[in-house]
Amino acid sequence: MSTMADGPRVLLRNLRETMAATLGSQERLDKIVDLIAHSMGAEVCSFYVLRDDAALELFATHGLNPDAVHMTTLRLGEGLVGLIAAEAEPLSLEDAPSHPAFAYRAETGEDSYHAFLGVPVLRSGQTLGVLVVQDLAQRTFREEEAEALMTTATLLAEMLSTAEFESLIKPGADIDLRRPRSFEAEGFAEGIAIGHVVLHDPRVVVRNFVADDVAAERQRLDRAIQAMQVSIDDMFNSGDMQVSSEHREILESYRMFAHDRGWVRRLREAVESGLTAEAAVERVQNNTRARMLRQSDPYIRDRLHDLDDLANRLLRALTGASGLFQTRDLPANAIVVARNLGPAELLEYDRSKLAGIVLEEGATTSHVAIIARSLGIVAVGHAEQIVSMCETGDDVVVDGAEGRVFLRPTPDVEASYVEKLRLRAKRQEKYARLRDLPARTRDGVRISLLHNSGLVADLPALGKTGAEGVGLFRTELQFMIASKLPRLAEQVALYREAMDVAGERPIVFRLLDIGGDKVVPYLRSASEENPAMGWRSLRLALDRPGLLRTQVRALLQAAQGRPLKILVPMVTETGEFCRCVGVIEREVERLQRSGGQVPEKLELGAMIEVPSILFELNELLEYADFISIGSNDLIQFLTATDRANARVARSYDPIAIPRLRAIRQVVEAAQRHGKPLTMCGELAGRPIEALALMSIGMTSLSMGPSSIGPIKDMILNLELEPVMESVMKVVRGSGNGVNVRDLLVGWAEKQNLPV
Ligand code: PEP
Ligand code: MG
Repeated sequence: MSTMADGPRVLLRNLRETMAATLGSQERLDKIVDLIAHSMGAEVCSFYVLRDDAALELFATHGLNPDAVHMTTLRLGEGLVGLIAAEAEPLSLEDAPSHPAFAYRAETGEDSYHAFLGVPVLRSGQTLGVLVVQDLAQRTFREEEAEALMTTATLLAEMLSTAEFESLIKPGADIDLRRPRSFEAEGFAEGIAIGHVVLHDPRVVVRNFVADDVAAERQRLDRAIQAMQVSIDDMFNSGDMQVSSEHREILESYRMFAHDRGWVRRLREAVESGLTAEAAVERVQNNTRARMLRQSDPYIRDRLHDLDDLANRLLRALTGASGLFQTRDLPANAIVVARNLGPAELLEYDRSKLAGIVLEEGATTSHVAIIARSLGIVAVGHAEQIVSMCETGDDVVVDGAEGRVFLRPTPDVEASYVEKLRLRAKRQEKYARLRDLPARTRDGVRISLLHNSGLVADLPALGKTGAEGVGLFRTELQFMIASKLPRLAEQVALYREAMDVAGERPIVFRLLDIGGDKVVPYLRSASEENPAMGWRSLRLALDRPGLLRTQVRALLQAAQGRPLKILVPMVTETGEFCRCVGVIEREVERLQRSGGQVPEKLELGAMIEVPSILFELNELLEYADFISIGSNDLIQFLTATDRANARVARSYDPIAIPRLRAIRQVVEAAQRHGKPLTMCGELAGRPIEALALMSIGMTSLSMGPSSIGPIKDMILNLELEPVMESVMKVVRGSGNGVNVRDLLVGWAEKQNLPV
């Protein structure tokens, strides 16, 4: 039997043997607490497990009354054990009974013990249980003893997550690790998905905890740390001054952590205690997470991501794990959980198996959200800390409309969502039946319904929804998901395929709208304080007409004589639009000269999304063949609220009077000039908002494909005339402070509209 003098390493080695031996789970636990008690020369060693009902159950003990095992429980926060679990911090006391939190349990017979040392058993920073040693004497446990106990706790955490453990859990209870959790997050793409978690960035599983040779582990750790420091320094130095300030900031904080002496020292100490290098990284990261998760400062919590990243880099280097999810292994009904995802990463997953995505970050108008919507993948963002709380394979329910996620749902939650899914399927059947009906209100107003799109992959949906065409094809999506600038031939191929798939249905191709939140990684631009108002979109295109010319050339070639509609984004004044038209006309002439086929009809439109152009509509409409309102940007700039900033993006009602008046001006101008007008921002896809737009005279609405069914259903039931009359009264100024949304909700109820 080992003694205290043998030190923690011998304890670890004995523990490893115990782990490997063929024993029942209870026997194994009993053996572990015996070993710890002997090794530390302590009278008592007890192991408590946190259950899903927030009770800490005594699972094994050496020294306390054995009858108390599985009988004694403490609440989270109750007694010293409860305190350790709640705070996820170790606690060492010379005289435990005199601590104010001490709670006496007669059944355990622990009244006579004075010295106390307890450590949390952690996984991803979450408490799974508590490990305690106690002694009769009034003494302080030594620093190395605390280290050894924490190391043992790392091992127990791993053991807790194995199936073997299940047999020890009382029927009706479960360990907290597998507790159902729900997240009030933000809906990015509506729909309901019931499936299984796939971690985008899979956790590296540490299998080898106990070092055979401490010196060798020390070397492995040092080498891995050094390599990591060098690679981060390289990243930092190779980034020319063009790297955006945000990117630099992130690298800067990475670098700070990578060289942080305290962190490196803690890693080394963990190795000295007998852990392998990878187990040391896991243990230190667990403790850091636990501490940082309990901080309310958002800056500190953000930095946690940096530390997680660094720890993962080290773990990958040490275990040789690739870290990339193998897409081919995707199970059916996969729900990808990630901190954040780029549009290209999303598209790498097999769509036939991908049911949903859940992110810790992102924004509704971020491109991953836009792509998810256009592909009909349920998506939710801002699910805080979900990555650390789930494991690949966990059951999960995602409600994209409500922005809720249920991880390991209880049977009743799951059943209610199965029912919702059934009702939804029925609604979809109903929408499918409406597919071939024209969208006409009961009083005969014809509304054009169109798709917002940007990928060829989402064009086949036209056949399913019965939409009349594509009102907005965001061409930049192809650029955003590519790893390098798509060449002319690639652009031609894409546009041609899009036109082929759409067939008779027209597509409005919007010229590249790069910049702002639409980051094209290989087109580096200087860092900007306010990228949304920076060098972007049409401005960029006119300054660097090479890109613009290539794109126009590609569109003209792809059309092969078919009619073509081109939409110019972010038009701020008429002159700017005319300059762009000039570039397009020169390309048409060039095509003609070279004997190419020019489109039989070429229509050039302007987007109304920068408020300035509202004051020059008459001039613009002299030149534009059609116009299209981009509500996402128009409302962002009218209300000075960043569309990508979840905190403010929804601060103002987009259909409040000032916004409706602005839009109504556009309607009137288009009518005066007899030019077609479409709404192509996200606004048109929401029923009450669409109703508002129709009430002020808009008759062409472009939206995500999944919105077509519900909006058409609403239109078919609507008598527009009286709604229009009452809304226009308010817009014209005689509404006496009526809230338009309330008014419309009232009308929807009165007319029994499905909104
Ligand atoms: C808009 O701004 O409303 C719009 C349709 O364009 P995007 O969302 O691509 O900026
Ligand atoms: Mg826009």
